[in-house]
Amino acid sequence: MRNVIIGSGVYGLSTAIELIIEGMDVIIIDSNNEDIASRNALGRIDPIFKGSGSYMATKDNNSAQRPKDQRQFALKSFNLHIEYYEKYYKGTKYEYEFINIPTLQVLNQNDLNEIKIEVDDIESIGFKLDILETHEEIKEHAPMISKEISKAAIMQTTKFIDSESFIESLRNRFLDLGGKIITNKVEKIEPESNNVVLSDNSKYSYGNLIICAGPWTNELLSSIDLKVDMYPAKGEIIKIEKLNSKLNYHLHGECSIVERSDGLIWIAATHNEYEFNSEKTKEAEIELMNKASFLIPEISNLKKIEHTACVRPATKNGMPIIKELIDSSNIYVATGGGGWGIMQCFYVGKSIKELINE
Ligand SMILES: Cc1cc2nc3c(=O)[nH]c(=O)nc-3n(C[C@H](O)[C@H](O)[C@H](O)COP(=O)(O)OP(=O)(O)OC[C@H]3O[C@@H](n4cnc5c(N)ncnc54)[C@H](O)[C@@H]3O)c2cc1C
Repeated sequence: MRNVIIGSGVYGLSTAIELIIEGMDVIIIDSNNEDIASRNALGRIDPIFKGSGSYMATKDNNSAQRPKDQRQFALKSFNLHIEYYEKYYKGTKYEYEFINIPTLQVLNQNDLNEIKIEVDDIESIGFKLDILETHEEIKEHAPMISKEISKAAIMQTTKFIDSESFIESLRNRFLDLGGKIITNKVEKIEPESNNVVLSDNSKYSYGNLIICAGPWTNELLSSIDLKVDMYPAKGEIIKIEKLNSKLNYHLHGECSIVERSDGLIWIAATHNEYEFNSEKTKEAEIELMNKASFLIPEISNLKKIEHTACVRPATKNGMPIIKELIDSSNIYVATGGGGWGIMQCFYVGKSIKELINE
């Protein structure tokens, strides 16, 4: 039976690899959209703390930790990343950058109280936390930190993936396993004849159709008068020149600040719900520079080197959508990774395979 996957972002490629290693026939159709989230993500893999788009260190009623209902899924995704990297990628020609950069998470009083209660729970699942309660203690780890910051936690186990090399590895592995990628846009789905219609009006038949079209998912589903509960959320990242001294941590407050192997400091990310374009804006640059300078004052004097913008496929509850669209339709959807789609992708691919095999 032919499995047609729409989209070669991280969700589509992870799903494609899961299916092809089971001996299934798999073809991906991808419209080659520029600036997709899967190529431009920060690449943080962290099941405990929230993303920068949803945390406000200055508000006491806002928690630094991921909500409990998301933690289980995040934890399974995190563990699968480690397992697959060791098994299939490390030391092979598909190796991508997957490194440890500890997080120094800035806390407000509320977070500090919460984390103190939960520290044993968090450590019992393998994430050691050191709580720092004075500015002097924090400065020993990050001498450049603003004197406004007096509470933080250090978590040693945050992983970072280079999203560009990650997606290339997935793509090459899929192709070497005998997979095929067709560059074309799917305009329409015809469930009554099990076909998809491409932009040149040619038709492609499917046994199973798996839609991994990221923020374009609902545009595609509108051809069959259906939609899923997701929306686009634009995100911009700026990359600036290095600080005077090495930043040994991923510093996280209302933004992420992290020194990457390209030699630049990445500041991530804006979060604009329902914005669907990849324009790089001056507003985003100002917002990110202000948030970063609040954490590290020296940043206000540093020069911007690069700027990226793309759109996440987001959901209100922060959980991905992984389902068969209508019972027995053989049309499946995997989307809604929001700010965590890179972390979730292997687990999403595995879940789709299990759904198909049910
Ligand atoms: C600024 C930013 C920072 C992020 N940081 C992180 C992070 O630190 N950690 C993390 O885990 N996640 C992060 N993410 C989230 C992550 O990047 C996304 O959740 C994930 O990449 C989405 O993958 P996807 O495969 O669902 O969609 P996409 O990457 O959007 O891929 C969808 C694919 O479908 C194709 N397509 C669409 N419509 C059609 C059609 N009609 N026909 C054919 N092909 C089609 C597109 O060309 C594209 O290739 C970040 C996102 C952003 C924007």
